Amino acid sequence: MPPIAEADLTAFRSALSGPLFERGDEGYQAEIDGFNSLSPMRPDLVVGAQDEADVQTAVRFAAAHGLEVVVQATGHGSYRGVDGGVLIHTRRLDSIDIDASALTVTIGAGARWMDILPRLGEHGLAAVTGSSPSVGAVGLVLGGGVGPLSRTLGWAADRAVAFRVVIGDGSVVVASAESEPELFWALKGGKVGLGVVTRLTLAVLDLPEIYGGGLFFAQEHIDTVHRAWLDWAETLPESANTSIAILRLPPEGVPEPLAGRTLAHVRFAYVETGADAAQLAERGEALLAPLREAAPVYLDGVGVMPTAECGSIHAEPFGPLPIWERGEFLDRIDQDYVERILEQAGGSAESPFATVETRLLGGAVARDPKAPNAIGGRGAAFSLLVIAAVVPGLNDQALPVAGPALFDAVAGYSHDEINYNWAGHPSPEVFARLWPADTAAKLAGVRKRYDPAGTFGFGN
Ligand SMILES: Cc1cc2nc3c(=O)[nH]c(=O)nc-3n(C[C@H](O)[C@H](O)[C@H](O)COP(=O)(O)OP(=O)(O)OC[C@H]3O[C@@H](n4cnc5c(N)ncnc54)[C@H](O)[C@@H]3O)c2cc1C
Repeated sequence: MPPIAEADLTAFRSALSGPLFERGDEGYQAEIDGFNSLSPMRPDLVVGAQDEADVQTAVRFAAAHGLEVVVQATGHGSYRGVDGGVLIHTRRLDSIDIDASALTVTIGAGARWMDILPRLGEHGLAAVTGSSPSVGAVGLVLGGGVGPLSRTLGWAADRAVAFRVVIGDGSVVVASAESEPELFWALKGGKVGLGVVTRLTLAVLDLPEIYGGGLFFAQEHIDTVHRAWLDWAETLPESANTSIAILRLPPEGVPEPLAGRTLAHVRFAYVETGADAAQLAERGEALLAPLREAAPVYLDGVGVMPTAECGSIHAEPFGPLPIWERGEFLDRIDQDYVERILEQAGGSAESPFATVETRLLGGAVARDPKAPNAIGGRGAAFSLLVIAAVVPGLNDQALPVAGPALFDAVAGYSHDEINYNWAGHPSPEVFARLWPADTAAKLAGVRKRYDPAGTFGFGN
């Protein structure tokens, strides 16, 4: 940390309602610890923001002392080795205000989907989420946000109504269609370098139930099911959402019928607004039938469910975990792609990965939103996400070889763009693929306007 007078630090501390931690303080590490226990985060100072004024104070202090600001809500995206600067933690900004008649929810920067969805469910309402309910809603929306209902309902950011943002000079602006429209455009997909969002209003929809869940298939059927999944997925209407994951589950920390097993997990959601439970079951079952017949089903967890429980469809781990992760956005794939994936991670492969997921996109994901925004990767037909829990002595030696080998094997299927939420902390080559060139140039201009001194780090 550059030299800062003790009096300045004391004044900073007393101006904050929430806690301030310096490296070495008791509580410093606990404040930073999040989903990924491998994240090497070592900021000079950590501010546990209690309210929006704390965020303003922290941004002004950082700007005055030439320190970079990074933001953390849950640590799901903290792959960058932050070394220095001010980390603003938003977990205490966890308000959730629902306006059922206006069909909106306004959330604080620290709210997670696992807190928001049940509250919406009390009103029969639903939002577009990602696959993991422990992810923060603001972090997901800033990257775009595509999840288990997105082929039908689009990107989470397409439903953003307004952001309250602390910008580079420490002032607060509201970005919406009417106010600061360029910043509003940028915050929907532009993700980094734009400010600290303190509150976000999202449009929600009246959708009490869906037909969804997961089918598990035993190891010996993984290859058959994966081949069948692709042929089937390409026939699905926009009302159907699906992904397939090859899972290698640990012996502990997982429910008994799944623990220690290697399985295929087909995730499915049939979404139809206005349909009752019987109609959802009938139409969803008919669509899923070919997959149920593709091989003997080991565990069948698909049925009519409250939309508020859609975060369970992917059965993602809650963490904290030592996570290695890499993603890609893909153009149309074929059976040769499937064979390449099976060679690296199929039923008879030696694979160090916990999850190798291919997700069907298209449908509403590919459609232009009513108001343009900065989401990258809209045109991809599929996504690929590979996750490993790094266990020394088990897979830490294999991963540096197997990870690149898997992505090299399917490199020919890459889409031009990769969405930020799949990019981890992007290398310069990956950063150059996050948006089309005209969007990237416009984003650079918006960042310059709202953060001319470059106080906000590209934290993810
Ligand atoms: C298991 C898992 C499953 C996932 N599934 C999906 C998925 O289905 N769909 C999808 O789109 N993404 C998915 N993601 C990616 C996830 O959406 C991003 O990593 C997202 O940024 C996480 O946000 P967070 O706040 O939870 O994480 P954090 O690590 O706390 O934050 C990540 C970044 O978000 C930004 N950020 C967060 N809060 C603010 C704020 N208030 N103001 C400004 N910037 C902020 C910062 O750049 C920060 O570095 C998944 C990630 C994991 C680990």
